[in-house]
Amino acid sequence: MNTPPFDFARPDCPLAPETYYKVGGPARWALFPRNAREAADAFAWAVQNAERMFIMGRGSNLLVSDSGFSGVVLFTRDLTGIESLGDDRYRIESGVDLQWLVREIIVPNNYDATGALTGIPGSVGGAIVMNAGTVHGATCQWLESAMLMCEGDAAPHAFPVIVDDFSYRSQTFCGSRALVLDGIFHFRRTEKDQREVFAHYMTRRRDIQPQGFCCGSIFKNPPNDHAGRLIEACKLKGTRHGGAVISPLHANFIMNEDRATFDDILALIELCKTRVHEQFGIVLEEEVRIIA
Ligand SMILES: Cc1cc2nc3c(=O)[nH]c(=O)nc-3n(C[C@H](O)[C@H](O)[C@H](O)COP(=O)(O)OP(=O)(O)OC[C@H]3O[C@@H](n4cnc5c(N)ncnc54)[C@H](O)[C@@H]3O)c2cc1C
Repeated sequence: MNTPPFDFARPDCPLAPETYYKVGGPARWALFPRNAREAADAFAWAVQNAERMFIMGRGSNLLVSDSGFSGVVLFTRDLTGIESLGDDRYRIESGVDLQWLVREIIVPNNYDATGALTGIPGSVGGAIVMNAGTVHGATCQWLESAMLMCEGDAAPHAFPVIVDDFSYRSQTFCGSRALVLDGIFHFRRTEKDQREVFAHYMTRRRDIQPQGFCCGSIFKNPPNDHAGRLIEACKLKGTRHGGAVISPLHANFIMNEDRATFDDILALIELCKTRVHEQFGIVLEEEVRIIA
């Protein structure tokens, strides 16, 4: 691969510190564009020149191989612009921290997205791509349009988002070789004091979620059931492999407890899938994005 022609390119960049799991080898090239224009140029270059590439938001839903990534990783963390468009509409760049948005915009304006988005780590771009949320709602339901660069595009284009374009922890408009530059969100005001809602869900997360290095839920919930319940029913809570453990507190969390390797975590993922399939005939699907 050619050397990227950017002053924001870094070779052999360790990825473990960039992920919530703290696991993963180096990226051959890491690109840290400082604004949307640089990001679009970097993306277009990577599509042309790199066999492999992926976009890194805040790394809260990624499990990266210990052997690293032989291609280009494009980081969005410096795309932090936000513009109020009036009437509860905002253009929000993909690198904006989701919890900053909740604290500074959503809660103070009493928007009803508080219940769905409080406590979810990561960037706005990651939240759009994952359609991150809870039982109280998910990101794309407040999204009017997304500014995208897709493979082969010469310039970014706005994609109007409708309800058919997203589903549980997924959406169809941004594939693995596409970049979300920003989103236009239209939030809804509510009568209920959202400061209380925020405090309630922060406390609840502290009570029911294990603290430490992880990616949140490893698996999506299968229809009408919970991955955590199924794994717990297979008596796998507390099972260890190397430095990784299936959390004794919440079975859908696999923790990097003590310098776990990629293979340690993967072994527990496979164990959960095998046992749940044997016992219940259900195929668990990973929510975590695995980069190997
Ligand atoms: C403690 C904890 C609790 C969590 N709780 C929840 C929860 O309640 N609900 C929930 O839904 N999730 C939860 N998660 C998972 C995670 O926080 C979300 O999936 C989050 O939205 C990921 O955002 P990110 O910026 O970290 O994305 P990353 O992990 O960096 O990336 C995730 C995926 O999105 C892609 N991506 C990121 N940004 C862009 C972009 N701008 N353009 C194109 N592709 C992009 C990446 O390539 C990757 O495929 C939790 C995670 C942790 C660690």
